[in-house]
Amino acid sequence: MTSGEYPTAMVDGKEIPYDPDVLRRIQEHPCYSKDACHKFGRMHLAVAPKCNIQCNYCVRDFDCVNESRPGVCSKVLSPEQALVLVREVMNKFSYIKVIGIAGPGDPLANKETFETLRLLKEEFPVPIKCLSTNGLLLPESIDLLEKYDVGNVTVTLNAIDPAIGEKIYSFVEWEGKKLHGREGAERLLAQQMKGIEMAVERKMLVKINTVLIPGINDHHVVEIAKKMGQMGVYTFNIIPVIPLYKFSHITPPTLGDKKAMHDACSPYIRQMEHCARCRSDAIGKLGKDVQDEIYRNCSSI
Ligand code: SF4
Ligand code: SF4
Repeated sequence: MTSGEYPTAMVDGKEIPYDPDVLRRIQEHPCYSKDACHKFGRMHLAVAPKCNIQCNYCVRDFDCVNESRPGVCSKVLSPEQALVLVREVMNKFSYIKVIGIAGPGDPLANKETFETLRLLKEEFPVPIKCLSTNGLLLPESIDLLEKYDVGNVTVTLNAIDPAIGEKIYSFVEWEGKKLHGREGAERLLAQQMKGIEMAVERKMLVKINTVLIPGINDHHVVEIAKKMGQMGVYTFNIIPVIPLYKFSHITPPTLGDKKAMHDACSPYIRQMEHCARCRSDAIGKLGKDVQDEIYRNCSSI
């Protein structure tokens, strides 16, 4: 997509190509547009407990820290339970425009993700479908994601250099084997880059989440941003690491460090600076979650 193909429209004070479908997936998505986050909400369906990699900042008892606030375990739903929940929420909250799958593990490592998306396409074709992933299985999943109308994809990408990646990932599960060290980091990176390229080609709106880890990848984040801008990624989200597991000794970045990193990356790619670090079962507007009330009152889940 180039700005020459469409007329332009203003989003968050900036001019972007105006394709009505693309524009809706930005203007009604609270993570893709700061303006939208005051008006519209999202619901996450926690149908995906398994993960196929091990990040050194992740304790698997908790939600995926790429998209979630750790320390709270989600109730994992079956695809059928998820559908019941969507019916309930769509009836009650007309401002919910996005249905996302963000864990608590990696959505693409769980067949329940695809069954959920299939059910959603049948009964709820209109809301924006969104998914976040570590990217390991993105190339192999892209056809199904397209078939089920997933138009917004987030990939957590913490390094574009395997020498840095190997410090971040303990292992990567690939074709029935656990790949460690450089081998695992190289495989993950190759899959992530291929998947991002394929998603952009299919006009999915790609968001990158990069976990900012002082002493590990902080000197490298601008390079990631530059590369992602060149590849046609829509927006870039920086998430300060939460010191857990093998990175429990790391002092997390301050809000000032995060802001400085966004400023350094902003010449290369649009920045998402309003991330609320949501749980993988979050429902509502960002920072105004209503999932506790919903889960309490929905007797069938
Ligand atoms: S991708 Fe998410 S769930 Fe998987 S190890 Fe990393 S942080 Fe944990
Ligand atoms: S964690 Fe950030 S990017 Fe993900 S849904 Fe919440 S606000 Fe959006």
